[in-house]
Amino acid sequence: MFSKELSSSVLSICDSRNFTYETASELCDLSPRHFGSIVRGKASPTVNTLEKICAAFNRTPNELLGFSTTDEELSYRFPQQVTHFRQHISLNHSYVTFPVCPRCHCNLEREYQSFCDRCGQKLNWDCFRYATLMPER
Ligand SMILES: [Zn+2]
Repeated sequence: MFSKELSSSVLSICDSRNFTYETASELCDLSPRHFGSIVRGKASPTVNTLEKICAAFNRTPNELLGFSTTDEELSYRFPQQVTHFRQHISLNHSYVTFPVCPRCHCNLEREYQSFCDRCGQKLNWDCFRYATLMPER
């Protein structure tokens, strides 16, 4: 039951973000082969692997396993990946880049800070090299 929920959660995340298995497995720090067998429900991930998948996709274990997160507090303490940045043009016309908090979408003052100053979300920077420009709304 858990592995079925996990594979459908992971598939829908890959789908919504247009990730190939290769990209997704790289984000999760897993081999494409192992990642694929987890997604197809052929292999059961270890707790460590589950943790990697959670971190890569900004999901709590509860969310990936099909439980709604009733404990909001927990989701703040569980690190979320910083996946977006904003660019501003400074006074001397050069670009300044600010990472964006995955929860409250405020600019973060510094790269690699552990928590968002505004909302207190714990941050994970492992995938910041894959970060993309924040879409403006
Ligand atoms: Zn925040």
